[in-house]
Amino acid sequence: MDRRKGVVVRFGSRNMEVVDSETGGRLVCTMPGRFRMQGIRPIVGDRVEYTLSGNGQGRIENILPRETELLRPRISNIEQILLVLSLKEPAVQNTVTDRFLVLAEFARLPVVIVVNKVDLLHGDEIEGFCEIYGEYYDICHVSSKEQINIDRLREILKGKVSVMAGMSGVGKSSLLNTLNPGLKLRVSEISRGLERGRHTTSYVELLQFEFGGLIADTPGFANLEMPEITPENLKSYFLEITHENEMCAFSDCNHIDEPGCYVKELVEAGSIHKSRYNSYLNMYNELKEREREKGGRKHG
Ligand code: GDP
Ligand code: ZN
Repeated sequence: MDRRKGVVVRFGSRNMEVVDSETGGRLVCTMPGRFRMQGIRPIVGDRVEYTLSGNGQGRIENILPRETELLRPRISNIEQILLVLSLKEPAVQNTVTDRFLVLAEFARLPVVIVVNKVDLLHGDEIEGFCEIYGEYYDICHVSSKEQINIDRLREILKGKVSVMAGMSGVGKSSLLNTLNPGLKLRVSEISRGLERGRHTTSYVELLQFEFGGLIADTPGFANLEMPEITPENLKSYFLEITHENEMCAFSDCNHIDEPGCYVKELVEAGSIHKSRYNSYLNMYNELKEREREKGGRKHG
């Protein structure tokens, strides 16, 4: 039997929906009983090999190793995060942006910063933002409302598996709709044939763009928590800090109040932006505080 390749985009109670990697066609696939016996549990985003089993359905033969795995939402093999924000209505604080960026770096996912609602901005308002983030991140200015740069965003998404992240109100749903009108609606029609259990509605689903590419229907990092990050490794998720810290007097410098700290010199000189360093300090203190609380509970 011919083995074909695809990506799992959605789960039903007893089967799953797969998008064929070559044709982009969707089909319902069943999972062999032995998977359950062997404890193999596919998740959305998994790349699979399948065979056609007559009646228009498929049968999963093999799940390929995961390259990455995001926990919230649980989804594998994501290729990029689109961090969506706006600088007006609402003006997203840099501290919030920096927190999203830390979580994306921690998950080892490439980030594209999408500044939406540029129809509300003057040129110089965008420049200030780019000065802070442009050296280390790709930035794409768009307006969902005025259809500005939407084609460029389609190019970024084309052929990839992506997740959007960003505060509520910045325009994530509007962007999805502008990129591909009727996206969510169409998906639910196509997969009417899919058997769905009572509890499956809370699962993440990958939506398929007509121009090619998949995107999670659930935003990433919704709660902005940093469960696995320690104060000492926080610095490795601020790119401008990790790129410069080799010149510090101490090799394990945390760039707080250590003598001979080169990072702090760069902050003073303005080549590491103050707002980024302040975010670092705030998050560092927060993580330290959390560590102290945990320690206290253990001893008390
Ligand atoms: P989400 O919570 O991130 O999904 O944001 P929504 O897509 O629900 O959008 C929140 C609000 O921002 C809505 O009132 C949209 O009409 C508005 N909005 C979205 N995109 C734009 C834009 O490009 N320009 C302007 N001016 N408003 C926008
Ligand atoms: Zn230092």
